Order: sequence, then C-alpha cells, then structure tokens
Amino acid sequence: MTTNKYPGTCEICGEHVPADKGEIRQVWDGQEDEFVWKVRHTDTGICQSVRGQETAASECERGYHAIIGYIKEYGQKTNDAVYGNEVVIDRRYGINQVGWVVTVDNKNTIRLTEKSWSDGYDLSETYTLTDNGDNDGYGNGNDDIKSALHSITNGVQVSIRPFAI
Ligand SMILES: [Zn+2]
Repeated sequence: MTTNKYPGTCEICGEHVPADKGEIRQVWDGQEDEFVWKVRHTDTGICQSVRGQETAASECERGYHAIIGYIKEYGQKTNDAVYGNEVVIDRRYGINQVGWVVTVDNKNTIRLTEKSWSDGYDLSETYTLTDNGDNDGYGNGNDDIKSALHSITNGVQVSIRPFAI
C-alpha cells in the first residue's frame, strides 16, 4: 500500500484524511474512462468511529421524530404560535425560521410550535401538552419528554418505545 502525499476524502467513511494518514490505490473509473486514485484512512478505527457517530445521529433523529409525533397526537392543537419561556429543543432554520421549536412554561406545559406564513395566510400551529405527570407509568410524561429531547440535543440516544403511538 502507498501512503497518501496529499490530503483527501476517505472512500470508506467520507471524512478528511490528512497527508500521510491514509493509503491510496488506483481504481478504474468507468465513467471517466481512466484510472483514478482513491484514498482511505490507514487507521480503520477512524472509519468505524465515524460510522458509529452516524448511527447514533440517525437514532437520535428517530427519537426526535417519535417524540414530535407523540406531541402532535396527544397535544391540543391551536392555529397560532404560542411559546413557553424555556426552549427545550429548537429545530428552526433559515432566514424564515421554518421548523419546530419545543418550549415549556413554568406549569411544565409543553408547546410544540411552528410559525409559518404562506401566500399571506398565517399557517402557524401549536400543540399543547399539559403536565399530567406520568400517570400510566410508560415514561412519557412531560418531564420524560423534556429529558429525552435534551438527550437528543446532546447526541445521546433515547428509547422511542414510550413515545410509540
Ligand atoms: Zn475513513
């Protein structure tokens, strides 16, 4: 195997490979009709840890979507944008701040809110979940929702079972 003289992008994990930290090999590129150089990390542990992080990230996304679905299912929907005073998770993006934000107020009421406009119409939505504790013991009370969303923000996986509809 030949060490890479130049930095590149790992063909296994897609992350950066600094000079001298990878191996290069020539492979035939049918589209380009020529041999091209491919680089990969010499330390395959790097590729594996990148993949592990990707798996954790996608598990967090599954958790996020399960909880959002749960709040929409059991929350009281109103056609306006109402917020609590503490942000739990904020997925708004772009100049127009599209997307959901979850907030909580001092009564531990959870609000899932999206502010949106289309063609001059206010299409804002809020789903409100009042705090009933965790009566059924499933681990899906408002405190559970808050701590699960905080975990997801920190890249820690959560069990989606309590939030399965
Ligand atoms: Zn790699």
